[in-house]
Amino acid sequence: MRTISILIFLCMCLLGSAQEGLHTRNIQLPCLDKNFNLFIHLSVDSITRQPYLTNTDVQDLMTEVSGFFEPICLSVSACEINVLENYTFHNIVDERRLTELRVLWGKPRRLNVYILGNIPRASCGVSTYYGINKAGGNDIYLEMDSAECRSSLAGQLAHHLGHFLGLADTYHGDDIEIVDDPLCAIKNDSICDTPSDPFGAYAGNAGQYIISDILPELIPMSDFVINCEFVHALRDPQQVYYQPQVGNIMSAYPCKCGFTNGQFKLMANNYENSNHKPY
Ligand SMILES: [Zn+2]
Repeated sequence: MRTISILIFLCMCLLGSAQEGLHTRNIQLPCLDKNFNLFIHLSVDSITRQPYLTNTDVQDLMTEVSGFFEPICLSVSACEINVLENYTFHNIVDERRLTELRVLWGKPRRLNVYILGNIPRASCGVSTYYGINKAGGNDIYLEMDSAECRSSLAGQLAHHLGHFLGLADTYHGDDIEIVDDPLCAIKNDSICDTPSDPFGAYAGNAGQYIISDILPELIPMSDFVINCEFVHALRDPQQVYYQPQVGNIMSAYPCKCGFTNGQFKLMANNYENSNHKPY
């Protein structure tokens, strides 16, 4: 039976008004009644030869991530944990190594999650957009070497499960986002209850900088988000102030704590309509 999304409710309380619009308990959503059995692969570094996470850590991670998806009765569990004894897979040097990982260790008909040390240009993780609808879209790669990625691991996994289920980043798209955009259903992330997010993908060290279409330079994330509140006086082309949801799991901000009603509906709809659902 569906229970109240306590985690998301708590996170809304903690983060206050900046998170208005994230899912609350009163909104009716579809119930998928689905659990994804994840195959978890853990790399080891060359010195300790131990994975970063214990089995208990993995179980805790599954519980935390499941909490994010509870409003649509979706959960994750770790059906198997595979320790990658070959430490050369800890720090990935190029994309071919990810392909090697998939070929060597990826289990078909399972969602494979690789928890590694470092992945170049990954911003904490890599996955396939709407992977559940594609053959070979069943891999998520996460990195843990940077403190920011490690401390937000559950949010990162939830973010990439969001991509897997067909959600775009809140800052997706080439157009400059307009705050009150009548075309919100087809532009950018195509979801109208995620407020316009002015930033393109950030560059530099993961999470350290963001780059805007309007301010095309690298700016420290801390100039925009303080204590998980968006503080920059940036305005759209119509001179309306941006107020993005810094707690949205599909944002780039380091405060991930929930999805919106529109995001839940899209994920549930995409899951139901996927032509390729071997999991
Ligand atoms: Zn993303």
